[in-house]
Amino acid sequence: MTQSNRDLFSRAGERMPGGVNSPVRAFKSVGGDPFFAQRAEGAYLWDVEGKRYIDYIGSWGPMIAGHAHPEVLEAVRAVMGNGLSFGVPNALEVEMAEALCRIVPSCEMVRMVNSGTEATLSAIRLARGATGRPRIVKFEGCYHGHGDSFLVKAGSGALTLGVPDSPGVPKALADLTSTLPYNDFEAATQLFSEVGGEIAALIVEPIVGNANCILPHEGYLQHLRQLCERHGAVLIFDEVMTGFRVALGGAQERYGVRPDLSTFGKIIGGGMPVGAYGGKAELMRQVAPSGPIYQAGTLSGNPVAMAAGLATLKLIQAPGFHQRLEAATHRLCDGLEAAAREAGVTFSTSRSCAMFGMYFRESPATSFAEAVGSDVAAFRRFFHAMLEEGVYVAPSAFEAGFLSSAHGEDEIAATVEAARRAFAKVA
Ligand code: PLP
Repeated sequence: MTQSNRDLFSRAGERMPGGVNSPVRAFKSVGGDPFFAQRAEGAYLWDVEGKRYIDYIGSWGPMIAGHAHPEVLEAVRAVMGNGLSFGVPNALEVEMAEALCRIVPSCEMVRMVNSGTEATLSAIRLARGATGRPRIVKFEGCYHGHGDSFLVKAGSGALTLGVPDSPGVPKALADLTSTLPYNDFEAATQLFSEVGGEIAALIVEPIVGNANCILPHEGYLQHLRQLCERHGAVLIFDEVMTGFRVALGGAQERYGVRPDLSTFGKIIGGGMPVGAYGGKAELMRQVAPSGPIYQAGTLSGNPVAMAAGLATLKLIQAPGFHQRLEAATHRLCDGLEAAAREAGVTFSTSRSCAMFGMYFRESPATSFAEAVGSDVAAFRRFFHAMLEEGVYVAPSAFEAGFLSSAHGEDEIAATVEAARRAFAKVA
């Protein structure tokens, strides 16, 4: 029996908060009902009603090699038959740790976890444990998962739904999170001069993909590096989104800045639930059992997840992989901007390799304030017009878009054609 999106959403709403297991999926900020996926392949998703969409979310980042890549599926099949989880160490975890440390030189040691949220929670515990200091610093509009300390002026779904400071986070804990405006050199200098001695860690999305796609001003990440150095704070790059995407070695490779710790997720699981944190050996050795700072996980280093992640990492290390993605992203974004111009719609894009932002404003935002100031109503109309055309972009004006290696000339041309008609409806 064919199921309908509407029936499923209505059933889901009875038993699952908002009908979903992660808030942005509910289409709340754009309105309308979400579709339910039946299957996915390459650059495409199909819903339960058989409609096909060109997908610019890629499961929110992991599917950089396209959905259901045959080599990833084969790797999963090959290990699945041996058992799904062992609870003792397995060889694939070692391979994964070695691969991550090879690809990201600032990582001398890593610990696998099961989500980006776990990675960031663990990284700040480590920073606090290692420095003996209580305070963390984050940026307005950055999202680091749903840990208590991070739901302070948070981006992503929290921003989209208007709850950047979630109820349920004790004030005493939220008071230990200082927030800064991203790309503001002076504000960071000022905060460190006031409370530098209390700061355990500064955590940043080096490119803010959870408030659309805000690129760092030249020298900004270096400035943060210097401040942390000067004040003895741990610099954490949250590369859950940018890692392995904006360059093979992530934003830290692209911008030439070496953080003390990094957090990862998404791509390194190839679509399976995975996260990781890693960095300087002198810090990582303080994690249990080699040190006293506790962190653990029943399913951490799961062999099936490691296999999917390793197969994906192998694919993205092919020569020219990121260059091709970057060229495709430029073709897409140039095409979207030209289509908007033809329709007389104010629109701009930002890009970083396989990641892009769409702004209904004259130029891409360089600050959080500019990002939230873009025309959200126009975005909503565009989103629905594109959905109707069979193109799925993030159901929020505050989320980056993602390309995969499966997005070829045909998909990009079809997207730009669809956008031409969609912008005409926005105008
Ligand atoms: N950090 C960043 C930069 C993210 O984009 C996300 C999720 O989108 C997370 C952390 C949290 O990861 P997860 O959803 O796997 O818990």
